[in-house]
Amino acid sequence: MGNALQTSDEHACPRCGDFLPTEGFTARNRVGMGVGWCKACVAKAARKWNAAHPERVKLNYAAYRQRERAKRSGLGPEREAE
Ligand SMILES: [Zn+2]
Repeated sequence: MGNALQTSDEHACPRCGDFLPTEGFTARNRVGMGVGWCKACVAKAARKWNAAHPERVKLNYAAYRQRERAKRSGLGPEREAE
């Protein structure tokens, strides 16, 4: 859906070329990081990266789970075994 009339509130995604309102882009792209991809493209790229790096995803997720568990139980991640 290309919209030829670009308002100041719309940006073109350099990946898919769609004109979208600022809300259509990820938050990071709003704070002067230059032109960023729209959310749909970011999500698509993330899925592709995840599919290409299943081991990294597993490790990242395990680390994330561990951090969250440590936070909830009030234990720091540095804590030695009791
Ligand atoms: Zn896009």
